[in-house]
Amino acid sequence: MKIKNRDWFRRKLEAVKAIGYIFGYSVKSVERSFGQRESDILKLDSNENFFIPKYELLKLIMEVIEEFDPRLYPQEEEQELREKISSYIRIPADRIVVGNGSDELMERIARLFLEAGELAVTITPTFSMYRHAVKMQRAELIEVPLNEDFSLNVDAILSKITPKTRVLFLCSPNNPTANQFKTEEIKRLLSAFEDGIVVLDEAYVEFAGSSVIYLTEDFDNLIVLRTFSKAFGLAGLRLGYCIADAEVAETLSRNVGLPYAVNTVALRVGAKILEKLEIVENAIKQLRIERDKLIEALNTIEGVRAFKSETNFVLFHTDKPSTQAYRELLQRGIIVKNLGALLSLKNCFRATVGLPEMNVRLVQALRDICEAK
Ligand code: PMP
Repeated sequence: MKIKNRDWFRRKLEAVKAIGYIFGYSVKSVERSFGQRESDILKLDSNENFFIPKYELLKLIMEVIEEFDPRLYPQEEEQELREKISSYIRIPADRIVVGNGSDELMERIARLFLEAGELAVTITPTFSMYRHAVKMQRAELIEVPLNEDFSLNVDAILSKITPKTRVLFLCSPNNPTANQFKTEEIKRLLSAFEDGIVVLDEAYVEFAGSSVIYLTEDFDNLIVLRTFSKAFGLAGLRLGYCIADAEVAETLSRNVGLPYAVNTVALRVGAKILEKLEIVENAIKQLRIERDKLIEALNTIEGVRAFKSETNFVLFHTDKPSTQAYRELLQRGIIVKNLGALLSLKNCFRATVGLPEMNVRLVQALRDICEAK
């Protein structure tokens, strides 16, 4: 009998088939399906950072490559990067864990703290990978809706916590609502949920006002996730880190993490870019200006409403059905994230803040689509 017909094998596969990241269109697939030229397609669905000049990043990568021996496993590079991050965020290096993107750190956290029969809580809408990490552990996930103004419903979250709840996943600024939560509310949750771990994802924090990493000093149940994929423009290298209590950090790093989880090139480029912070800061400054212009421009379109953002993306909704507007954008070579209904809002989209010419194209396309009678 083939393995594929065995019960246990089917059970294992079926249990995870509903889990997994749902990828949108790639540039090549839009070229194939909609007949647009690859070079004309705008990919604005993944919150990447176009404001960091590509040549600056390639220069750093080339410097690393020149000294790189691919025959060797990484050695001191991870420790060196932790020390560089430590000076950047002013948190001791023994409380920093480096991972293969922050997604991989979410998995490590879930592997450490969750198992079948236990629970995690998160908000909705939010980033989909918390669900993935929880479900892969066969744990249950409870999703608590945000308030209509996208603020945290702290009482509702606390009401869902049971003696078997181990982890609360929060994201601030939140993907996709683009707002940052109040520090007082985070503190309230940390105090009230002192029997569990609060994971606070700060993937977009560099585009916002303030961070709560300093709270890791007072709360040993707080883990803050960060990434090099957004403000640092290194999404393709896969590099993230988290800040935790020293014992938790050591365990996530030495025991849960695989040896050599992050490749040498990513580790060394991460360390190098932290010596060139002016490139990053400059990009953030420009992005914020373009973000506010984009929001203003979107709000001049009849039938479109864009929300305030503290990230590098913008949430907006249309009067036109989202499936139709999404398709019409694709026909014009523009890929955004189609979110559909969020809370009581219909026809929601998320779009990366692009360079000025990209935003002009997005706004013009939406004007054509949404104002057409
Ligand atoms: N957290 C949030 C909230 C995100 O939106 C994303 C990327 N879409 C990530 C984490 C992923 O980060 P990384 O590339 O470091 O895995």
